[in-house]
Amino acid sequence: MNRAEKVERIRHVLDELYPDPPIPLHHTDPFTLLVAVVLSAQTTDARVNMVTPELFAAAPTPAAMAKLGVARIHDIIKTCGLAPAKAKNISALAKILVEQHGSEVPRTFEELEALPGVGHKTASVVMAQAFGIPAFPVDTHIHRLAERWGLSDGSSVERTERDLKAAFPRDSWIAMHLKIILFGREHCPALRHDMSTCPICSFAASKARLRAAAPAKSAPKAAARARGKSTRAR
Ligand code: SF4
Repeated sequence: MNRAEKVERIRHVLDELYPDPPIPLHHTDPFTLLVAVVLSAQTTDARVNMVTPELFAAAPTPAAMAKLGVARIHDIIKTCGLAPAKAKNISALAKILVEQHGSEVPRTFEELEALPGVGHKTASVVMAQAFGIPAFPVDTHIHRLAERWGLSDGSSVERTERDLKAAFPRDSWIAMHLKIILFGREHCPALRHDMSTCPICSFAASKARLRAAAPAKSAPKAAARARGKSTRAR
């Protein structure tokens, strides 16, 4: 199977599994999405969705968030990882939106990435999910899976983003990013990958990776044989 065929087959599997992938972070507009994505760094989406109803009820707009103050924001989001830094960043970015962007979320990577707490991945999520502008946000799931599926070499997140953008049609980037995240969450445990039964690695994993995984599968048998020998020796 050549690379183009592999990409097409991966697309087909993901389209079948996730025909209409939902956006996992609850939000009502670009501003609440931006805040939710900032909160999601090193925190699960489920945890973010637990704190944002109270946060957005107290401060649904940049002006209201700027007025809310760092201490109150922190109090509401304190169960999220890195809460002190996130509270400061959310307060500061709300002030910048009010003072420099007419209380709107800007629509360019340059302006988004200039906001406190907003890196390229966060900006990509906002561009894609708030404005429908094609982008391919690469998180740890996507970075890892792109390497496992032989679509990128895993050397850097930037490289993975370039390779995935080249592999998939531009009009599929937004949905494909969500589908790969959902697949990673549902199908990829931290340990023990049975690639032969996996809907994607069964055909996408490189031969070298399949060979590398083979000894791990026979390890329990080897351990049992070793235990048998040591019992007989006693
Ligand atoms: S084998 Fe399946 S579950 Fe494991 S990394 Fe590959 S895609 Fe994920």
